[in-house]
Parts: sequence; C-alpha cells; structure tokens
Amino acid sequence: MQTEDFIRLEDEYGAHNYHPLDVVIERAEGVWVYDVDGKKYLDCLAAYSAVNQGHCHPKIMQAMLDQARKVTLTSRAFRNDQLPLLYKELHDLTGFEVALPMNSGAEAVETAVKAARKWGYTVKGIPDGQADIIACSNNFHGRTITIVSFSTDAQYRDGFGPFTPGFTIIPYGDTKALIEAITPNTCAFLVEPIQGEAGIVIPRAGFLREAWDACRRNNVLFLADEIQSGLGRTGKLFTYMHEGIKPDMVIIGKALSGGFYPVSAVLSSKEVLGVFKPGDHGSTFGGNPLACAIARASLRALVDEKMVERSAELGLYFLGRLQEIKSPCLKQVRGLGLWIGVEMTGAARPYCERLKEEGILCKETHEHVIRFAPPLVITKDEIDWAVERIKKVIEG
Ligand SMILES: *Cc1c(COP(=O)(O)O)cnc(C)c1O
Repeated sequence: MQTEDFIRLEDEYGAHNYHPLDVVIERAEGVWVYDVDGKKYLDCLAAYSAVNQGHCHPKIMQAMLDQARKVTLTSRAFRNDQLPLLYKELHDLTGFEVALPMNSGAEAVETAVKAARKWGYTVKGIPDGQADIIACSNNFHGRTITIVSFSTDAQYRDGFGPFTPGFTIIPYGDTKALIEAITPNTCAFLVEPIQGEAGIVIPRAGFLREAWDACRRNNVLFLADEIQSGLGRTGKLFTYMHEGIKPDMVIIGKALSGGFYPVSAVLSSKEVLGVFKPGDHGSTFGGNPLACAIARASLRALVDEKMVERSAELGLYFLGRLQEIKSPCLKQVRGLGLWIGVEMTGAARPYCERLKEEGILCKETHEHVIRFAPPLVITKDEIDWAVERIKKVIEG
C-alpha cells in the first residue's frame, strides 16, 4: 500500500475531525519520522509536545515493555507497585505535595475544575452551586463539553451546546480585567502560561506574577495548564518558573509519557486535592501500572539527559537563527525555549505544505502561525539543517 491508499482508507472510513498534512508516518526515532515511502522528515511538532523526549526513546520503551510483561492494569480498586513511586518522584521533582493521575489532558483539566469547585464550597465557603472559574480569551484546555464551554473559539463550540455554566472570560494578559472579574464566588483562575494553540502567544512579562498575586490576595486558586508548555518545552521544567511563582494546581499531560501512552496528572497541595474523598472522582485507567512505569521513565529521561537545559540553550539558538530570516511575508518570530512561533502575514498552511516537501514537519496554529516545537533531543546541527530549509521556504 502507498501513501494515497492509506489516505483513501482514512477519508472513507474515519470521521473528518482533523485536516492532517498528507504524510503517512510509519516509524520514528528521536527527531526523525519516516513515511510509508521511506522518506525522512524532521519532526518540528513533536505531537504537540508529547514527544519532548524524542520518538521511541529507548529507555522509556524498555520501561514500557518490562512493565507490559508484568501487569498493565489493576484499576484503582487495588493498589499497584508503580503508582506510589510515580507519586514520590513527581513530588521530589516538582515540589508539589500530592498528585492525581488521569489519562488525557482534557481529563486532567476536568479534574482540576472539579477540585477547584469543591475546594470553593468546602474550604472557601462559596454558596452551593455558585462557584465561578475565570479563564482567558483564546484559551485551549481540551475538547470536552465543560472545557469548550469556556472556549472563545467559535468552531470549538458551534453546534455543541448547551454548555456548562460557571465560567467567566477575561482577555489573556490583562491583570486589571482579572482583578475586576474576581467576586466572592470565584474559586479559581485557569491559565496557560503561554498560549500554544492560540499561536505561541507569550503574555507580557509580569502578567503571571501579577495574576498570581491577585489570586492570593483574594483567596482564589491559581491553576496553570502546563500540558503543552510544561516538562521542559520552554527551557524550564514548567513555564510558570520563569516568573518565580508557585501555582496552587498544575495540570500536566502530553510529555509525561514521552508520547508512548496517554498519561496526565494534576499536581497540588493536600488542602486542595484533599477535597476528594473515596468515590468522588476517578478513572479506570488513571494511575495504572503501565502508565506509571512509562511516566517514571519519561521524567527520568528528561532529567538524566538534561533536556530542560537543552531546551533553554538550543531554543535561544534556534530563535536567533529564525530571527535572521528576512521576508515581507514574515510578521514576527517569537518563542521561549524550543517553542517558537513564526507569524506570517498570510495563511501559514501553504508554508507547512512546502516545508513538508523540504523534509520538515510542522503544523500551522491559529491560521497565521507556524509552530516549531521539535523534540528536545534535537542537536545544533539538526537546527542548522532545518533553518536552511525554513529560510528557503519563507524567503521564497
Ligand atoms: C493538548 C492540550 C490539552 C488537552 O490535552 P488532550 O490530551 O488532547 O486532552 C489541554 N491543554 C493544553 C494547554 C493543551 O495543549
């Protein structure tokens, strides 16, 4: 079978809820992926930062295979010997007291929303049914009904109502609007430290710290969605660390498994996650031993191979090289760590199509922005290789 045959099958028998580039990937290793015709590409999307550790990382793979031979799923009806170790390692690495494991990122966001509301009622004393959560314009937190209820993107919402009430939107980056939106019934402020899906939108320096201060002064929980921005992507373990703050809850996913398996988690304090009593919340697969063994190996790879430091150093280099590119079609090049948005004056999709022909895979985000987010194991030579081709495509 060839590329066209796979595409035909997919279009014929699948739902069309994505518009992928027409490359059919068969295998991958590190920063490179290979299509069914044997053509090789540099992956500059890294599965939306789920493969920060590089494709098919050998140590994560070994941990997965070893665990798969022992036991994969116990359900939380019983205990397993991997979950406690993951808890301890997450605590040691991040400094958060406790964690709650789920599978997809959206589930972890839902978990954070439930915890924040219950904390609002049982700790803050908000009247029953009145808890409000503040979120930001142009946010992306996932695709469930509750999460799209506070999306400001028409396409994410159109045709999916009725929606979940209890959310207020403020403009991203606007501390004054946040302070004005806080009421005695506000239990939490949910924010992406950098908005990935909105086009690598970096808030003004100081915004996160001001927002965090406002939350503390008003007894409002500060929730950082680090599902895409966390685990090294921006050159720190978490993006909030660039402003020296400590959120009340951090939501992680994606690279928590190095791309092997859906694993997500909410990190927080005993005060906040302590609101959950047995039976309040759960997931059949959440915290399963296979997921935990994979997550443990994924975190170990990040730390042992200094991927966070690599992201900071090589990110600066990549950003500098991309900023050398001159074209009237180029509006702005911005980024932090190995997370770079190249904003064009027109549609970004045709550039992504041309980059694919040159052997680089990336995806437009928010119409005008090309996102470059390679696995953190990329080398300087590979960046140079990429820049040469990106330059050719953008300069035309
Ligand atoms: C990807 C993402 C999610 C949703 O994660 P899924 O695993 O796709 O459910 C939520 N928030 C952010 C910031 C993301 O990038």
